[in-house]
Amino acid sequence: IATALAQAEEGKTPLQQKLAGLSKILTYLVIGICVVVFGINVIRSVAVGDGFSFATAMDFFMVAISLAVAAIPEGLATVVTIVLSIGVTNMSKRNAIIRKLTAVETLGCTQIICSDKTGTLTQNKMTVVDYYGEDEVLLATAMSMCSDAEFDREAGTAVGEPTECALVNYAAKLGYDKNDQKLQYVRIGEVPFDSMRKMMTTVHRAATTATAQKTNTDATSDTLELSALIQFTKGAPDEILKRCTRVLRGGVEIALTDAIREEILAANKAMADKALRVLAAARKSLSAEPAVYEADALENDLCFVGLVGMIDPVRPEVKPAIDQCRSAGIRPIMITGDHKDTAVAIAMQLGIIDSPEQAITGAELDKISGEDFESAVERYSVYARVQPEHKTRIVNAWRKKGKVTAMTGDGVNDAPSIKNADIGVGMGITGTDVTKNVADMILADDNFATIVSAAGEGRRIYDNIRKAIQFLLASNLSEVLAIFCATLIGFTIFQPVQLLWINLITDCFPALALGMEKPEADVMNRKPRDSKEGIFAGGLGAAVAYQGALVTVITLISYFVGHYLEAGNFDIHQESVHGTTMAFLTLAMCEVFHSFNMRSLRGSIFTMKGQNKWLWGAGLLSLLLTSVVVLIEPIAKAFSMTAIDAKEYFIAMALGFAIIPLVEIVKLVHRLIDKKRGVEHTN
Ligand code: ADP
Ligand code: MG
Repeated sequence: IATALAQAEEGKTPLQQKLAGLSKILTYLVIGICVVVFGINVIRSVAVGDGFSFATAMDFFMVAISLAVAAIPEGLATVVTIVLSIGVTNMSKRNAIIRKLTAVETLGCTQIICSDKTGTLTQNKMTVVDYYGEDEVLLATAMSMCSDAEFDREAGTAVGEPTECALVNYAAKLGYDKNDQKLQYVRIGEVPFDSMRKMMTTVHRAATTATAQKTNTDATSDTLELSALIQFTKGAPDEILKRCTRVLRGGVEIALTDAIREEILAANKAMADKALRVLAAARKSLSAEPAVYEADALENDLCFVGLVGMIDPVRPEVKPAIDQCRSAGIRPIMITGDHKDTAVAIAMQLGIIDSPEQAITGAELDKISGEDFESAVERYSVYARVQPEHKTRIVNAWRKKGKVTAMTGDGVNDAPSIKNADIGVGMGITGTDVTKNVADMILADDNFATIVSAAGEGRRIYDNIRKAIQFLLASNLSEVLAIFCATLIGFTIFQPVQLLWINLITDCFPALALGMEKPEADVMNRKPRDSKEGIFAGGLGAAVAYQGALVTVITLISYFVGHYLEAGNFDIHQESVHGTTMAFLTLAMCEVFHSFNMRSLRGSIFTMKGQNKWLWGAGLLSLLLTSVVVLIEPIAKAFSMTAIDAKEYFIAMALGFAIIPLVEIVKLVHRLIDKKRGVEHTN
């Protein structure tokens, strides 16, 4: 396992890669624009002939710096990290504990969820409800003695692993308390259960060999003569039956004929078809104490005793979760060590499959070559009687198809497949530490429905991060464009410190608040996002472009209004501090108002249900801080601006507000076009 783990590779998640790519592009862009603007300035000053000095070069350099400040979204990485972290906290409240931050985002692209059956889809509360065999008392005794669960008399129930408990409880229900029976069958050795052999063996010194005695509560061990040696083996019926040569008939052991074998298999199938988990028990008399306790040495030449069938009710919340997977375009897949018929019965009940052809066993899987399986993997949604290595094959086949795959697991042997999956899911209750350590996410309640709700949360968080990214990039673009246009026309509109204020104050708070936005109504009614799609997919790039341009136009208008109010003309060769201050207020408030637009990338914000109180808080805070800067003279001076009067203030505010109706109009046109084309969009 250690070797296999070392081989599984660790990849970067989509968002990490895309943000890294974006920063690289932005860096080149910034350098490019700075060079161009610096060049334009130098050429113009030389062409105009007003001389080229060190001082003018410094001025141009400051403009280039402003541009760099304007173009780099300082808040982006921070906002993404904070939104992801808050998402992780929310998920943990819903029992999904994220171990790797980036798993949050991968969850939103989940296309396949491979889930264990026992305990994840079902409750793992086993109760024996059916049996097959001629001696029920012997059957129950063999099962209970070959179990590691103990009977707690005070609680009146067994404690231990659920399958094991069911067997001890079964014996107790027939009147055989394990605490008493242990004295008649003293365990002297065992070969523990493992999911490869699918069976377990115990060896006992017994009071009698032929039949078990009804417990006499007065009996004590010293009055019993423990002379016989008996072995009990229990496990998966098909596996046990392979190792049986005899069967109990009329109280004696007779040869196990093919006819009887068929009969037993038919009984097994009848129970499995009823979604029961079936276990078989066998026994063997030993002449001498085994020298070594090894499966190969002991688990052969057995005498078949009988079968028990136990129900393990499905978790009530799983069926709705599976329906939700369907509408969300996520494919649920059941993987189990249990018998195929049991698995099929439960999978049909849950709606995972609609015909038994969609199920395959581990043995059948072994016969299919690697390539054949990769092309056939779409066909199967239930894998029965699998061993842990099969899980790795399944995960790898899906991943080869480019599907984002989640895989659950609990045992040590599951660690490689969990590690290989895009989202390895460990079990909080039944999981081993090894699997938890390699998992990306742990289910505190071992529940399938928790994976689905985490996937929904992952989608919401990604949606919100996209809103924040669109918001921040549009804002940066508007700043770059404003400086660019001003430079072309021939004046300086902003100083670096003013841009830093906008980027760090009026941008970051609303962007963070957008991260708190509630899920849009259709979040689990659309297909999973393509993990390979870029940040600018789905028209985000175009939206950034037009929104950035709108904000630029509004900001420039505000500057010219300020310029006119101050100088009474439009002589652009004269810098206007009132123009800059008004443009600053308009730009800052435009961002605040625009953040409300971003609550939905497509829908009108006036038809949205509910309010984002964080966004209101962020907006008011930004309004307050920005108003202080433009209204109080000393502070305005510190930012290379001036205090403006009420008229200027309200004009600048009104211009800022204009972004809401403008974007609403564009969204409306967009929706009308989509409707004409028949495209469904609710977000
Ligand atoms: P699952 O729990 O998904 O059925 P496992 O690998 O744990 O998968 O078990 C595989 C099979 O081994 C079970 O279907 C059952 O027949 C048998 N089995 C499970 N637990 C025990 C046990 N404690 N003792 C004997 N056999 C068992
Ligand atoms: Mg199990």
